[in-house]
Amino acid sequence: MKRGKKICVVANCLLNANAKIQPYAFYPGANRTVIEPLLRDDVGLIQLPCPETSYLGMRRWGVTKEQLDTLAHREHCESILRAPLLEMLAYTDAGYEIESILGINGSPSCGVEMTCTGYCGGEIPQDADVLAKQQEQLRMTPGRGVFMDMLAEMLERHALKIPFKGIDEEG
Ligand code: SF4
Repeated sequence: MKRGKKICVVANCLLNANAKIQPYAFYPGANRTVIEPLLRDDVGLIQLPCPETSYLGMRRWGVTKEQLDTLAHREHCESILRAPLLEMLAYTDAGYEIESILGINGSPSCGVEMTCTGYCGGEIPQDADVLAKQQEQLRMTPGRGVFMDMLAEMLERHALKIPFKGIDEEG
């Protein structure tokens, strides 16, 4: 039996940058800096679904945490997290180690230590000064994005303790 019984759960775009909102993709496919060391250490990977792609599609605009923080979106996150949660429970019940959950810092969905807040919504202003003022309100704020928030809540309900770690992709 060659299985290592070590698993890491990763945000969808760490294995598939195509999920990211335009124009953000710092690599064509998988984030090799993060993924290759895991492969070298024989860690198995569980890829979480991308909540923004399934909720808003590939023509979505950039959004902030408060825009995603609605009951409907939280319910969407919860519904797509149900299957990976069941997988995590199955592995931990069977004595496998889930080492960590890797999110994407700065994301309004998958941020772990930092998320993005501040956009006030509405029509895109035609006036460049008004648009610039709206953009100035964007902030990187300590805290989790909505999707990781829901995952943490669901893990807690099942008393499953797995450390979260945010990846800083622009750094
Ligand atoms: S929502 Fe999460 S998985 Fe999807 S592109 Fe953004 S950071 Fe990646």
